[in-house]
Amino acid sequence: MVTGKISHFACAANFLRGRKCIFCGSFRVLRTARGYVKCRHCSKSKSLAKLQREIEILKGFYQLQPAYRLAQDLSVDAKVVTRVYQRLREALFHVTELEGGKLKGEIELDEAYFGGRRKGRRGRGAAGKSIVFGLLEREGRVYTKVVEHLTAQELMRHIQARTRKGSVYYTDAFRGYQSLRRFGKHHVVSHQHTFVNRRTRNHINGIEGFWSYAKHILYNYRGVSKYHFPMYLKEIEYRFNHRRENLFKRFLKVYFGYVSP
Ligand SMILES: [Zn+2]
Repeated sequence: MVTGKISHFACAANFLRGRKCIFCGSFRVLRTARGYVKCRHCSKSKSLAKLQREIEILKGFYQLQPAYRLAQDLSVDAKVVTRVYQRLREALFHVTELEGGKLKGEIELDEAYFGGRRKGRRGRGAAGKSIVFGLLEREGRVYTKVVEHLTAQELMRHIQARTRKGSVYYTDAFRGYQSLRRFGKHHVVSHQHTFVNRRTRNHINGIEGFWSYAKHILYNYRGVSKYHFPMYLKEIEYRFNHRRENLFKRFLKVYFGYVSP
């Protein structure tokens, strides 16, 4: 299990004690006789017991705990944990699509295959896999898209939608990138010579680093269906893009929606 820093959870202390409004961040709250925290600023109210349980579940999400195991640890129904996980994942899915503008500067492009290769179920081949197209701005964010087919047309559509024209692109020798030079400067990275080119900027190590980060997290979740995969992928993209910040705090914000992301 991946554990988070305890200090990251400190931001939840006032919410857990019922001193601060989870929806707007105001301290002008009062406790009702029925155990609710009522906000005098935004006039929303919430059961403190329920809020505390949801925050505990969000801690587990932050720590990448599988839902069934967290349910056991907290002695709650697995459905309760799953509901919170799904709600946050859906919110993260939309937030990642809305965040930031177009990628710019030096951009690494690459494709990867995920899933479809579970033990004891051989012979499925690439059919069960999800194809992901990834765009990474160096020293910046990553953007991912699950695609049906790796056609030049489809790749160019995403490149045009998600990157600024005139950027500097780094890709492998895949033919789908052939028309890229009409959109910006295009460097083709030869995989056999990656180590030679380490001193130059001609590599796609950044996006490859993201693929291993994603595979590490998915391994932790043990088998994600192809249907649910896009949702998990966006969660990972969000974690990666905010990895230098207090992710737990961000999850609280996105989940309760009290501050726009
Ligand atoms: Zn409030």
